[in-house]
Parts: sequence; structure tokens; C-alpha cells
Amino acid sequence: MDHSKLTRNIVIGMFAGIVFGSLIYAFDVSEDGIFWGLIVDGLLDTIGKIFIISLKLLVVPLVFVSLACGASSLGSGGGMGRVGLKTLGLYLFTTAVAITLALSVATVVDPGAGMDRTTDSVFIAKETPSLKDTVINIFPSNPLKAMAEGNMLQVIVFAILVGVAISKCGEVGERVRETLNDWNEIIMMMVMMLMSVAPYGVFCLLISLFARMGFSAISELIVYFLVVAGVLLLHFLVSYGLIVRFIANINPVTFYKRMAPVMAYGFSTSSSNATLPITLETVEHKLGVKKEIASFTVPLGATINMDGTAIMQGVATVFIASAYNIDMSFTDYLLVILTATLASIGTAGVPGVGLIMLALVLDQVGLPVEGIGLIIGVDRLLDMMRTSVNVTGDAAVSAVVARSENKFDMAVFEDNRIQDQVVQKSS
Ligand code: ASP
Repeated sequence: MDHSKLTRNIVIGMFAGIVFGSLIYAFDVSEDGIFWGLIVDGLLDTIGKIFIISLKLLVVPLVFVSLACGASSLGSGGGMGRVGLKTLGLYLFTTAVAITLALSVATVVDPGAGMDRTTDSVFIAKETPSLKDTVINIFPSNPLKAMAEGNMLQVIVFAILVGVAISKCGEVGERVRETLNDWNEIIMMMVMMLMSVAPYGVFCLLISLFARMGFSAISELIVYFLVVAGVLLLHFLVSYGLIVRFIANINPVTFYKRMAPVMAYGFSTSSSNATLPITLETVEHKLGVKKEIASFTVPLGATINMDGTAIMQGVATVFIASAYNIDMSFTDYLLVILTATLASIGTAGVPGVGLIMLALVLDQVGLPVEGIGLIIGVDRLLDMMRTSVNVTGDAAVSAVVARSENKFDMAVFEDNRIQDQVVQKSS
């Protein structure tokens, strides 16, 4: 399989989709016409949807197999606990940094100033689970049900338990681990097969999306949009840049280059979960994080680490408070940091969930939940951008953990030929 230029083609597919989709929107093509019916809604939307479905198809088996493998190799000798705590700590830390940045910038810029809303807007928030239910819901009573429903936190808990048990089962465990490793290779091969058609998939997804929404919604909420986008960029470049450069001690430029296709997938699918197969492949084979670390940190990150989402929630909270002329105290700010950081654990890596979890944050500080109605119009595009940040954060933390555990293959990271290749062998 010659996959050179794959990265470039994915990025071209992404931009072409945005440009052509926006053109169709700008020309106001009738949704009743034959062009729309056959081409946009018929052909392109269908291919785009099949592409996303195929990515999602791999997620549950991949998370289970890869985490069970990872946990089984870390399980022996207390490594699991150490790596687990380190990973969890770093994910929570980067999310707290992200939301602090968001609150600081939003407070200075004040994107909601002058909106003068009173609480009579109509937005019925979906019911959000309480914090207690969120915690209880992490533990599965039926692993098959968890898998069938795609409840990733429950699948993660089950996979880690299986992995730890494998590591304690001696010879039997060794046999099962080998089988799981074989399955891991097969699933990764499916990922690679899918990657080879990715430029077309990404193009179809984006053209049909932008043909429907264009950029029109942005103009009304331009300041809010720009503040969220600006903080996302700041966190992406500065926070991750510093972490990668000074904590992982690797070249940030190479890091970003290697991550480019992953970001494009995140942007196109708006789903950390759907992007997970590509994130895992990249972190392992292009960044050089050893399998036992990557297979643990990446699936966990795709499920619980949502820095971009936390940024949107921080800016949105300040925006809504200001739009309704409500003053937030210092304690409110601290409460937002705490709630948004914890809420990011419960936020599923699928499109739009960040907005639902925002209701939980607003509720905690007594802000009107219907304020979400003000920002919903631009959330689709921001969702795409924040998902790119979410998946990059998973990779940055994986690199830090791998470096600190001496499980980082510098030869892979520094190998220039790797950029455009899809590596065939997974170990
Ligand atoms: N779409 C985001 C993700 O999958 C979650 C969100 O912010 O809605 O990472």
C-alpha cells in the first residue's frame, strides 16, 4: 500500500469540502432541486455518513482490545497504577489549564457585553445527569450492554479489569494476551484500510455539512466565536507546545506535523471517539509512543480528556453571564473550573455533547440554562474545532507519559520518512 501524500490529500479534501460546500450554500441551491437531491443529499451525504459509520464501527472493539492489552502489559509490577494516576492527573491538569485560559480571556474581552438579555429565551435544555449519577454510571453491570450502547467509560472500566486479570493469570494470561494482540493488529489493519479512502470521506462529509450551514450564523456571534477560536488556538499552540517541548522534551513542530491528519479527522467528524482509531495509529506509529502506553492513554483520553470542550464551556459561561447582566464572583469562577473539568470526564466524545454538559456547568453557578440557545447557532463549527484540540491533547499527554516511563521510540519520532506513511506492522 503506497500511502505517501496521504496527509496532504486529507487536508486538501478538507479544504475542498469546506470551499465547495460554502459555495453551494452561497448560491442558495434549492433543496428541492435535482442537484441537491442526487448529488449533495444523495451521493455526497451518503458517502460521508458511511465513512463516519465505518470509523465508529471500529471504536468499541478497538477500545476494548487495546485497553485490555495495555492494562495487561502494565498490570504486572504496579506499573498500571503509576501510569494510570499519571495519565489521569495530566488529563485533569491540562483541562483545568484550558478552562482557566478560557475564563481569563473571556473576562477580559467580554464577548456578551451589550446583549442585555432577560431570561425569557426559549431553549429547553436536555436533562443533564447529576454528578453522583455520572460517577455511578462509570461502572458497568453488563459489559455487553455497555458495548452495544457504546458507553465508553463502562467499556474502559471493563477492559482495564480484564487486562489486570490477564496479567495475574500466568501462562493462561499470556495466551490470551497474545490472542488479543493479534486482534489488535487486525483492527489496526482495518483502520489503515479506512485511512486510504479518508480524503474522499472527509471531502464528502464537509461538503454536505457546509452546503447546509455555510458561515452565516457566525456573523451574529462573531465576538463569541472569535474568542472561543482564539483560546482554542492559544491552548493548542502554547499549552501543548510548552508541554511537548519542555515536559516531553520533543520537537513541537514535528509533533504538530505528525498530528495533522488526526486534527483533520477530528475536525471533519466532530467526534473524539470516531477519530480514536486514527489517533491511536498515529500516536503509536508516527509519534513513537510504545504500544503498552498508547493503548492505555489514547482510548482513555478520547473518552475523558476534552480540553477544547472545556474552553468552549468557559467562554460560554462568561458570555451567558454577561449577556444576562449577571455578575460572577471569584467562587463562581472556581466552581466553573471544577465543574467543567469534572464534566469533561462525563462528556462523551461525540458531536455536540459539550453543549449538553454546559447545562450542568451553568446550573452549578446558577446561570440561566436557556442561555445555551444564544450560542447554539455557531456551535457546530466550534465543535469541529474543539474536537481537533481534544484529540491533540490526548496525543500530547500520551507523549509525556511515554517519555517519563521510558517508553518512547525516538527513532520513530525523528524518522522523516514516517510523516506520510501508514505503517503496516503494528508492533
Ligand atoms: N465533539 C467533542 C468531541 O468529541 C465533544 C464536544 O465538545 O461536544 O471531542
